[in-house]
Amino acid sequence: MSDRQDATDREYLRQAIELARRCPPSATAFSVGAVVVANGAVLATGYSRESDPKAHAEEAALAKLATEDPRLATATIYSTLEPCSQRATATRTPCTERILAAGIPRVVIAWREPSTFVADCVGVENLRAHGVTVVEFTDMAEDAMSMNHHLTL
Ligand SMILES: [Zn+2]
Repeated sequence: MSDRQDATDREYLRQAIELARRCPPSATAFSVGAVVVANGAVLATGYSRESDPKAHAEEAALAKLATEDPRLATATIYSTLEPCSQRATATRTPCTERILAAGIPRVVIAWREPSTFVADCVGVENLRAHGVTVVEFTDMAEDAMSMNHHLTL
């Protein structure tokens, strides 16, 4: 990864962290922020519980884009937390499936989902198995988790 790409990724991941601070508090779900970017432009943003009490950040962001939006084919989605592979709300589609369905080729995250709500999140593994590039900035995990310290992590 080039230094320029690295700096760009960090900048958008920071935006996602700021979005995560806007989440309505919840005792039963993480606060997460997400930003969808293509060709240097933000296409959509989202944060947990933005649109309804069960909404995930990636879900809220992707809901603002048409599924056939051609820009998704070159987009990166930045999420403060690993996209879920399984949901506590079984009727809602996991974010990894939404990302794959949208055809987004690149995902940047700060921290991996701990087993607080779902026993074993395999979001990163699922995405990689489908050819999606996943980049992790573990040094930004502490910031990305900072609004979740009321939960047992
Ligand atoms: Zn999710």
